[in-house]
Amino acid sequence: MRESLNAHNLGHMFASLSELVCALEQDQVIPAFQPIVELRTGKLRGFEVLARWNHPDVGPVLPENFIALAEDNGLIGELTNQVFRKAFLAGRQIGDLRLAVNISPRQMRYSSLPGQIWNSAEDAGFPLNQLTIEITESALLENLEQAGKIACALKEMGCRMSLDDFGTGYSSLKHLQALPFDQLKIDRSFVESMATRRESRKIVAAIVGLGHSLDLVTVAEGVEEDDQAELLLRLGCQLAQGFRYGRPLPADSLPAVMVAKPISVAIRASEDAILDALPAQRLAEMQAIYDGAPVGLCFVDRTLRYVSLNRRMGKMNGLPVEEHLGQRIVTLFPQWYKTHESYLQAALAGEAVDRIEIEEPGEYRGRPGRKVLASFYPVKDEAEEVIGISMALMEMRRRTMPTAEEAAAAELALEAAQD
Ligand code: C2E
Ligand code: CA
Ligand code: CA
Repeated sequence: MRESLNAHNLGHMFASLSELVCALEQDQVIPAFQPIVELRTGKLRGFEVLARWNHPDVGPVLPENFIALAEDNGLIGELTNQVFRKAFLAGRQIGDLRLAVNISPRQMRYSSLPGQIWNSAEDAGFPLNQLTIEITESALLENLEQAGKIACALKEMGCRMSLDDFGTGYSSLKHLQALPFDQLKIDRSFVESMATRRESRKIVAAIVGLGHSLDLVTVAEGVEEDDQAELLLRLGCQLAQGFRYGRPLPADSLPAVMVAKPISVAIRASEDAILDALPAQRLAEMQAIYDGAPVGLCFVDRTLRYVSLNRRMGKMNGLPVEEHLGQRIVTLFPQWYKTHESYLQAALAGEAVDRIEIEEPGEYRGRPGRKVLASFYPVKDEAEEVIGISMALMEMRRRTMPTAEEAAAAELALEAAQD
């Protein structure tokens, strides 16, 4: 047996059916174990079990060369049994960590599947509540009802269900709704390009956001670079797997992997790439900061319609937040508009107007005149085009200038609003 089951030193070959039959008879298909870690800390959480054909002449052969052949010839059940049995035996050395195994979507047709998994785990003494079943979504399609029954049986046995290669199939959302998944695996193809392609970042952010909304754990596959790990962590992805953390290894390497030092993520300063992909969770966080700010904050689009505002701004304007949305400033507050028009126009032209004192007109919504400290910032898109204005207003009642604390709080809130 070679000391590593890395993809790099695997012989590539395309097997014939008779060779595969022979391999199964001689018990040559074995599991490799790839670490799955918690992104934030780098701590080991478990392993994905990946089949390897330990060929006597060419060494370990990758599953792409034999899984389809096994599936097409009714051998996938036997192959899986061989791999699982060995994986569960090896799994006795991993304490309370998890094992994730792959099920061919075709196997989700057979009602005997849960019983087989139960037996293999029981024989080896591996607890089923430490087992995750990964299913690739593409081929679940045909028999969703039967797949649902089997998935429920597996869940009743204590297993968790994971939807593999999410985002690559034709009806990911349909599967998510139909089957009781606990986990989503973000396909490697999105992770690979997320540090360089905005579209991939958006897709990954959307998947992680979906995971949060549906209370599913998200696992990123194929994490190779530090940049990818950092982006994923900032997006709120929980688990990761990939060469950055470890390649698939044979069972006898498990003890060494388990005592290895965790590989955590070093956080650098915020970058556009990160802000670009703010997930729902971060948006909610932003909204809380926004609403709690001791300053009136709002964003208006190019036509000076309110797109968002915080409660303080609503209060200062004497109108509930929702009655502002979609309305033009000039329609709601014609007087105010007149006094502030030049600043609004300057901001639309790309010029920031920072903290100026303004006398508000006395007749303004029936209130006495007041002094405010106002800022108008142009908000730009990736092409540097102004898409609207971020405004901050602070009443100055007692003194002409805010205290240092008020000014610092206002600045923080403004920064958050601009993000
Ligand atoms: P998968 O479930 O998506 O497995 C992840 C694949 O990504 C593995 O390939 C793994 O070696 C590879 N990988 C992991 N980290 C990285 C990385 O950072 N960069 C790159 N470039 N690749 C990475 P592998 O072992 O060749 O497995 C391929 C596929 O074969 C698996 O895809 C899975 O669908 C299938 N498979 C493997 N074992 C079994 C099995 O026992 N039963 C069934 N039904 N399918 C299996
Ligand atoms: Ca998998
Ligand atoms: Ca996958």
